[in-house]
Amino acid sequence: MIEVFDTAAARRALARRRLHCPGCAAPLRPWGRARTRTVRDRDGAQLTFRPDRARCTGCDATHVVLDAGLLAHRGYSVGVVGQALLAAAAGLGHRRVAGQLALPEGTVRGWLRRARGSARRLHEIGVQTTVLLDPDLLPAGERTDPLTLALDALGAATLAVGRRFTHEKTDPWARINVLTRGRLLAPLPTG
Ligand SMILES: [Zn+2]
Repeated sequence: MIEVFDTAAARRALARRRLHCPGCAAPLRPWGRARTRTVRDRDGAQLTFRPDRARCTGCDATHVVLDAGLLAHRGYSVGVVGQALLAAAAGLGHRRVAGQLALPEGTVRGWLRRARGSARRLHEIGVQTTVLLDPDLLPAGERTDPLTLALDALGAATLAVGRRFTHEKTDPWARINVLTRGRLLAPLPTG
């Protein structure tokens, strides 16, 4: 899966073999489209989309090219997931988070469990990116909860990415989604 800020630009880049395989870095070529999906966005809005697929000219792997606001295999946009993670980091339990955002309790519980399981890696990605781009933005670090630490670090990284690459107008959660390669709720490879 490849998270992109602009799916139309990504389609043009793909047609010209200018998108590269996240696995082996060889050029990708167009490979049809994935099925149509509908997910829920913030404030209950519905998003319907049909992502492009790409196939690697080197290793033959196929990848779905996804708008940075979306997560693979989730019925909700990354913005909705982000709202839930922030509410949990602020100290709310999954039931209250679910109630506030009108989400199923089991869905929120699953998101929190997965994000907490990846919190250390997410924190590392946030810190590494911030150190690389703008170390002055590093959070002060007096927090102790791993999820809160991770979200603080990703927040700083998002700000740094926005400033450096003039992505300030993109949604911060879309930037986090690109930074974490769409794996906010999936196990992250180490290293
Ligand atoms: Zn490849």
